[in-house]
Amino acid sequence: MSSKKEKKLKFNAAWDLDPAPEDSKHVSIKKQYDLFINGEFVKPNSKKYFATYNPATDEKISEVADADEKDVDKAVKAARAAFGKWSKLSGKERGKYIYRIARLMQERAREFAVIETMDGGKPIRESRDIDVPLAANHFFYYAGWADKLEYAFPNRNPKPLGVAGQIIPWNFPLLMAAWKIAPALAAGNTVVLKPAETTPLTALKLAELIRDSGLPKGVVNIITGAGKTGAAIVNHPDIDKIAFTGSTNVGKWIQKSIAGTDKKCTLELGGKAANIIFEDAPLDQAVEGIINGIFFNQGHVCCAGSRLFVQESVADIVIRKLKDRMETLRVGDPMDKNTDIGAINSKQQLLKIQEYIEIGKNEGGEIYQPSCSLPKKGNFCKPTIFLNVSQSHRIVQEEIFGPVLAIQTFRTIEEVIEKANNIPYGLSAGVWTDKGSKIFNLTSKLKAGVVWANTYNKFDPTSPFGGYKESGFGREGGLHGLGAYLTI
Ligand code: ADP
Repeated sequence: MSSKKEKKLKFNAAWDLDPAPEDSKHVSIKKQYDLFINGEFVKPNSKKYFATYNPATDEKISEVADADEKDVDKAVKAARAAFGKWSKLSGKERGKYIYRIARLMQERAREFAVIETMDGGKPIRESRDIDVPLAANHFFYYAGWADKLEYAFPNRNPKPLGVAGQIIPWNFPLLMAAWKIAPALAAGNTVVLKPAETTPLTALKLAELIRDSGLPKGVVNIITGAGKTGAAIVNHPDIDKIAFTGSTNVGKWIQKSIAGTDKKCTLELGGKAANIIFEDAPLDQAVEGIINGIFFNQGHVCCAGSRLFVQESVADIVIRKLKDRMETLRVGDPMDKNTDIGAINSKQQLLKIQEYIEIGKNEGGEIYQPSCSLPKKGNFCKPTIFLNVSQSHRIVQEEIFGPVLAIQTFRTIEEVIEKANNIPYGLSAGVWTDKGSKIFNLTSKLKAGVVWANTYNKFDPTSPFGGYKESGFGREGGLHGLGAYLTI
């Protein structure tokens, strides 16, 4: 923290975590970050850097290195060199390193949460209570598997794949890094990871943590850059596995790029989930589930419940309750712990969401937004719902990745199953009902990788997560997520 390059950044949140260290109102962010390759921070070949901004204020926070093909090659070589030793280390030893990463993350949780919120715009309450603890839990969970691979996959002679190229998006930057790195290391692979260009800072903080943890050099390499850097990882001939989370378009491009190679691949792509409310559901809880389903993390969630289906007999009451609840939502400063909806991640994403809101209106949807005002600076969007929409509307079919909900009604269970499945995506769904039999019936008929019952957006390291159709393939989390990094 004493380096000249580092500056102290103040934030105003009334922070109430225990224990509160002396410098709890400060985090240390360098003015410039290099690439983390072979255990140290090195300058990019091009000497080029690009800025990362706070989307709530439009202020520049820091700049990060722009890695080109030569840097990618250097990182892959470091990972390949480290693979020999790392894969031969006993599972127990590997587990110790992963546990250490988990513990260090808990110790630095406050700093990670603040930086995540500054760089990405999500409410501090979410970074603090969800993203960072869950990220640490992923490392704890997979640390536990490192010396039990033979038990996890009996008589299958599990072996690591080699060097994993991992590309992650901007909606859960630290959590996605943990989802990718933890199982890869537990299985004995080494890693080259690239965070998204608008949210690189927590991954770089994780690089510092990994350096401090004493993990052998080259086991994890973290490099920054935009799509071109990602493409260089995908195309590198010495990568054994690509793990990608991001848009369906880039996912399709990756599949084409690796066709004909031996590279293994998992893709976690877009979604347009149905959140289904039956007349026998506990309606007040369901309304909370609708709010959480679509407005959590500003709706920047691939499994967001962005299509609501309400049974006709309770539609009026559910929509009235939903509108009332939306009036109470606080939109604004992500650093304020009372904020419910923070900043949209980037100007570009805000423009995309605004365009979809216009499309919704032009297609004849009935829009409702609460009366809240938005901050004058930064990228913000009111929580928005559309009534009077049908299956053919673009806001019903296409992923918006923002706080915009399309609402339809239904009469029968058959009708809602058909509508829920009539979509190119198949990542997640939600079902709200008092009847267990209805839950079992629906979970087997909904074409979605994850179905939540009487809850929404609940994540756990032990549960596999992933999709069907244009939502991708392969699973992350649980034993399925571990198996994706092994030949078995
Ligand atoms: P979004 O449209 O939501 O930003 P993207 O799929 O473009 O999602 O981005 C997800 C991640 O994929 C980011 O880290 C981004 O830099 C990376 N990326 C973008 N284009 C490519 C590409 N052609 N090859 C590999 N990675 C890419």
